[in-house]
Amino acid sequence: MHFATKVLHAGIEPDPTTGAIMTPIYQTSTYVQASPADHKGYEYSRTHNPTRTVLQDNLAALENGTWGLCFSTGMGAIDAVAKLMKPGDEVIATNDLYGGTFRIFTKIFEAYGIVFHFVDMSDVANVKNKISPKTKLIWAETPTNPLLRIIDIKALAALKPEGAVFCVDNTFASPYLQNPLDLGADLVMHSVTKYLAGHSDVVLGALVGKEDDLKERLTFIQNSCGATPGPQDCFLAIRGIKTLHLRMQRHCENGKAVALHLQSHPKVSKVYWPGFETHPNHLVAKAQMLDFGGMVSFELKDDSKEAAVKVLSTLHLFSLAESLGGVESLCGHPATMTHASIPRETRMLAGLNDSLIRLSTGIEDIRDLIADLDNALSKV
Ligand SMILES: *Cc1c(COP(=O)(O)O)cnc(C)c1O
Repeated sequence: MHFATKVLHAGIEPDPTTGAIMTPIYQTSTYVQASPADHKGYEYSRTHNPTRTVLQDNLAALENGTWGLCFSTGMGAIDAVAKLMKPGDEVIATNDLYGGTFRIFTKIFEAYGIVFHFVDMSDVANVKNKISPKTKLIWAETPTNPLLRIIDIKALAALKPEGAVFCVDNTFASPYLQNPLDLGADLVMHSVTKYLAGHSDVVLGALVGKEDDLKERLTFIQNSCGATPGPQDCFLAIRGIKTLHLRMQRHCENGKAVALHLQSHPKVSKVYWPGFETHPNHLVAKAQMLDFGGMVSFELKDDSKEAAVKVLSTLHLFSLAESLGGVESLCGHPATMTHASIPRETRMLAGLNDSLIRLSTGIEDIRDLIADLDNALSKV
């Protein structure tokens, strides 16, 4: 099956008991057994739930894996991967990670004796320098947030030491744009909350892989630790995914139009978007992604925080909110929102200036989005 068919049909069959074409929400905690251990494959909903099974199988197909596991949130999925580690094990991770990933690694798992190295992975030589016999996990995120740096997944996979797991957080690209397993990753992680579910109405996470050993270990963690999603949330994710390919096409079209418009705008000093030929990793993006996505970040010529705040509070169709990947456009201010916990000097060194604005372009009419941006920029 091709992608647009998979989103609708992979792992999804009409309900065998009634013929219902839409996956039922199996709102049940337990399942009746005819005699002890004589059941239909379902015993208790932390362990298995039929609505969740459909979503897991669908996600596995979208990422070209053989299995999928769903979690109550993206962080729940990341937590499960980190729990593959033992005290003394070392992890090499992207330096401009999603804030929640940085937090769980440094504030939770460092205390359990796991050692984390954060490196700029846009040059894979930085990863090579940190590899040791203790390296057990390589954790990459690409494109990164909010500067949209691109990491070469194939090159990283080639560096992976024997016995280590290579996991890619594929939230920003979605399986429509990029399939890390095909490029050599062992695991793909998703905040399904974002592009996959796509309608800003559910929080959910997932892992997809190919190896049976990883499946066994992660299924054990999923069931033992219990960060599993409810059936209603799985249903919403299944429904959202049915239009993933259509939404992504429009997100990419609108992202491109917004990036090009801002690039030539007199009030704007810099635009971050991997589709520009001048982007340092444009060729890698072109090779490993189908298109460049709907995320665009930019800085103002007036580099004060006040100017950014003025633009953000004037924007109307771009709603000021955390999160991304929904059908409606969102804007955010990394310096005071997602990256506020980083000290200002460190933040500036990393290229996260006070006037940096991040856009998640939705699927609205591009003329209205451009008019909204122009209006807000005219106020500074
Ligand atoms: C949102 C997000 C997460 C965390 O997912 P939740 O569903 O919010 O728990 C992880 N990685 C990235 C890149 C994200 O954008």
